[in-house]
This record gives sequence, structure tokens and C-alpha cells, in this order.
Amino acid sequence: MDIRNLTVASIRDSLLKHEYSATELAGEALRFAEAENGRTNAYLRLSSDRALAVAARVDEQIAKGEDPGPLAGVPVAIKDVIVTKGVITTCGSKLLAKFVPPYDATAVERIEAAGGLIIGKTNCDEFAMGSSNENSAFGPVCNPVAPGRVPGGSSGGSAAAVAQGTAVVSLGSDTGGSVRQPASFCGVVGVNPTYGRVSRYGLVAFASSLDHIGPFARNVPDAAALLRVIAGRDEMDATSAPAPVPDYAAELNGDIKGLKLGVPREYMQDASGDTALRINEALDRFRQLGCEVREISLPNTKYAIDVYYVIATAEASSNLARYDGVRYTTRADVNGGSLTDMYRATRGEGFGAEVKRRIMLGTYVLSHGYYDAYYLKAQKVRALITRDFAKAFEEVDALLAPVSPFPAFKLGEKINDPMQMYLSDIFTITGSLAGIPCMSVPCGNTRDGLPVGLQVLCKHFDEARMFRIAHAFEAK
Ligand code: GLN
Repeated sequence: MDIRNLTVASIRDSLLKHEYSATELAGEALRFAEAENGRTNAYLRLSSDRALAVAARVDEQIAKGEDPGPLAGVPVAIKDVIVTKGVITTCGSKLLAKFVPPYDATAVERIEAAGGLIIGKTNCDEFAMGSSNENSAFGPVCNPVAPGRVPGGSSGGSAAAVAQGTAVVSLGSDTGGSVRQPASFCGVVGVNPTYGRVSRYGLVAFASSLDHIGPFARNVPDAAALLRVIAGRDEMDATSAPAPVPDYAAELNGDIKGLKLGVPREYMQDASGDTALRINEALDRFRQLGCEVREISLPNTKYAIDVYYVIATAEASSNLARYDGVRYTTRADVNGGSLTDMYRATRGEGFGAEVKRRIMLGTYVLSHGYYDAYYLKAQKVRALITRDFAKAFEEVDALLAPVSPFPAFKLGEKINDPMQMYLSDIFTITGSLAGIPCMSVPCGNTRDGLPVGLQVLCKHFDEARMFRIAHAFEAK
């Protein structure tokens, strides 16, 4: 078996035909992940015991003629901001280097209940803050398809794991683009579902009004299969939506002829030459598929980065206050100093530069006298950005855009220039602020062979249509 070519459906088929067992597959996935990791640093640790335990259960179910579940035997990698009971979860931070969660995230629980094999925890930017994976306390991840370049971030390890083929699917988190952007840099599919579609119980909070858990896969059907398993109301997360979860697989092959697709003018203007070239070819392809492609305007796009960096940092400063050296974290030794000394030393030594930058900015925009001018104002502009999308969806069924203005950049290229780094997300942040489903689907390479991602954005809870559009394109 070559793990790199497996899909959710092919694994199920092979297991049921007894071509190999889930235990054999788990062993092979773990061995391959270990062997590849020196090249990419995609995994922070493997979770062999868990993977092998679920594999044994799947094999037993198959032997008894029971249904082993929709993700039976599928090797899954989990971003290290999603908690796993008994398996260290660091969030890419020195501060949590020894944190062993006492419970599983709902998404993790649902994956294992569906027969998925959790093979390991993946590297990421510290607390999911970053666009290149270079903010991890445990070293950067190298892009498996573009050596010497970043895999994107913050879910760089999860994107790399799927791109190199050590996992068939993986989970990341997306707050401003952290699933879509690394998916586009690594040439895989990455999905940011509707806000509320997937329970965030067990996702370590960064910016609560923007955080999502989302799947990576090598094709749209696999991403849809994983979303189906993790989506739906969860009593443990009050922000999870009660909306019914459609059978995405059943709707995947529907006709897209006659659909009206909008292309936001403001995005195309800022895309690099090669990116624009590939996106324009994709638009032609949609015309050939019988869609009506037309330009539209999302006029408030220009405020998105500013709004995001006020709201996300404000929420982060509040969420990250819990790392006080008393709970969760490694405590700094202050040798008889005061409680305040201990807080200061723990946080001073534990957090990296980018996280500190954001906590300071966020504390500032929430402080008395500045709250109205920054935080409240940003919330109002966020409403305008959301309204831009609502208006667009009165005219068109979905939007098409680039994911990132440029392809994977070189390791070290932007790390000393936070503004340049923040600009990586100008096309992804808008969808996050509006809470709509959006995804990246591979759309060819630049002339230098670097993957380009096409972004598909739909109305709230319209993932089925989004998948159908992306699948029609990938199946071309
Ligand atoms: N790159 C963006 C940031 O640094 C988005 C991160 C994310 O989606 N988690 O905030």
C-alpha cells in the first residue's frame, strides 16, 4: 500500500475486502510519518497508542460484520491547538510544552467514534498566530512540495502532513485564514466551515468570535467526508449551531451549470501576476462548465486587515490571560518572589514575540478611553464587511477569488516584517469576519512550480454548494 495515494473511500473499500487491516495501515502511517518528519517537522509528536487502539477496534468491527464508521482506518493528523486527552498539546508554545489535556476536543472524539486513526499532533504557529509556521516554539515546518519555503500558517503542519501524504486528512484551525492559506501554499484542499458549524469544544481559544476548526484533504470528497463527521450541534459548545448537517457526499456531483459566480474586483487587483493568471484560467473553466462568471464589488475589503487586527488581538489578549503559571502552564521559578513576579516571569519567558505583540495591542485597544475608538469602531466596520457579502449573495450564488496574493514564500523572508506577514491574509480575513464558509482548492502552479489556491466562498451554512463547485473544478 502506498499511503500517499489513499482516500477515505479507497481505505474503506480495501478494509472491507481484507486487502489490509486497519492495524497494518496504522503501523504504516506511523512509520512513514516518523521517516518523513526530519524533512518537514510537520509533527510535534505521534500518538501511536491512540491510533493503534482505534485500529484494533475497527478490525474487530469488520471481523464481526459491523459498520466500522465513515472514517474507518483513515490516518488523521490534528493541529496542536486542539486538545487530546493524555497526549501533550502545546499550541506551538513553550508555555504549554508539558500540558497534558484531561479531555478530548469534540471533533477528536467524533473522528475516533467514526473509526479515524489519530496518528499525531501537528506543528503550528504559537497559539495559531502567524501565516508561515515560523512562530512555532518548536521550529518551522518546511513546505513538502516547495523545499526551502514556508508551508503557510498557522496550520502549517496539518497542511504539510496531508501534502506529504503521511495523513490522508487533518484538522486545522482558521481564525483569519489559517486553514485556507496553508492549503493553498501546499497544494491541498482546506475548508473553513460556517462559524458555528463545527464545535470548538477543546479548540484552544485565540479569537473566539473568529475561531473555526476545519479540515484539510487531498480532494474535495475527503474534506467533505471529514466535515460531515465533525459538524453539528454539540451541547459542550454554546456557539455550535443546531442547523442540520447535509450528506455532502450525496450532493457533491450535482450540476453546477447555470450558477452565477461573482469575482470580487478588489481581490483580483492585489493578486500577483502568476496567481492572477491561474485564477483567470479557473474562471474560464467555470464558464466552460456553464456558469455565469461576473465581476462584483466588496467595497469594504480595504478595511479588513485593520479590523481583524483590532478584533483578533482584543479577543486574544483576553483569552490568553488564563496562562498565569498557576493552571495549564510551566511555572517560572522566581525564587521566593511575589505572585506578580511569578506571573511576569512565566509569561515573559513562555510567550514568543508575536504573541506578546498581540497581547499588548489587544490590551491597548480594549483599554478605557480607547475601547470606543478602536474595538467598537472595528465591530461596526466588521458589520459593513459582512453586509458586503450579504449584498453580493443577493446577486450571485458563490464567490471565487484567490486565497493568497502570492504563493509560498521563502523561510525567513517575511519573519522580521510583521506588516508584510499580515498582508498574506488580505483575501481570507474577510470571509472569517463575515463567518461564511470558504475554502481553498488547488488551481495549478506558478511558473516556478509553486501551488496556487482558488477560494470558493458561499452563504452561511451553504457548504454543500461550496463543495459541489470546488469538486466540479477539481474533477475537470
Ligand atoms: N495569519 C492570521 C493571523 O496571524 C490568521 C491566523 C489564523 O487564522 N489562526 O492572525
